[in-house]
Amino acid sequence: MKRKPFIAANWKMHKSIEEGISFFNSFHEKVKNISDRETGLCVPYTMLYEIGKLKKHLNSPIALGAENMHFEEQGAFTGEISHDMLLECGVDYVIIGHSERRHVFGETDEVLNKKMHKLQSKNQMKAIFCIGELLEEREAGKTNEVLRRQMKQGLDGITKEFASTMVVAYEPVWAIGTGVSATKDDAVNAITFVRKELNELYDEETAQKIRIQYGGSVKPNNIHEYMDSEEIDGALVGGAALKVDSFVQVLTKW
Ligand code: PEP
Repeated sequence: MKRKPFIAANWKMHKSIEEGISFFNSFHEKVKNISDRETGLCVPYTMLYEIGKLKKHLNSPIALGAENMHFEEQGAFTGEISHDMLLECGVDYVIIGHSERRHVFGETDEVLNKKMHKLQSKNQMKAIFCIGELLEEREAGKTNEVLRRQMKQGLDGITKEFASTMVVAYEPVWAIGTGVSATKDDAVNAITFVRKELNELYDEETAQKIRIQYGGSVKPNNIHEYMDSEEIDGALVGGAALKVDSFVQVLTKW
């Protein structure tokens, strides 16, 4: 099955609203006619509404993403943001379980599973579901075990219909923001394993529909290595997505 490649940016806690808008305008101009691959920008909450409006105004093909979401509908959850608040801003994708949420903010597989269930029950925005092992887990030969656990628990009760709409981002934690990217072989091996597990959890047809990205120090000069592989359906990009020219190159240099 042919899956449409998806290159998404994760801006993390960077950029003012003005900088975000200016990025969106010039990125849109450069990519608006590209149709053989999808691109998206996952941006801080502060600029979601303005960028959502701009996207609509420009009729832009760029997907808009949020970096996180709470699983409750509403209520006394100071500092959190709900599903409907994101939807109101025009969000298409929500990153669930980025390694910084897991390892800096202590989000567990159980919490991430609740977030996936919230997205599933509303069925209006798609998940970019992140998984990946720590360096010590890799060194202890536990990569596959960790990936299996994160998928089994994080996707518990998620139907094949909803799962087939999600994007999985395989992001080895040791490669994120470090400049040390996974080799093509390491990325392909992990992603092949992830698809095999999705096949076990669901079925062949569902597993073939799900796009699996690689993330971890992707740059204009290494993206082609990953995108050369049939197994890898795109990338989740942090540092190299903060400048328009660099992100355009990541999207087009393969
Ligand atoms: C990320 O934030 O998901 C990421 C992969 O960051 P970087 O590209 O900077 O490693």
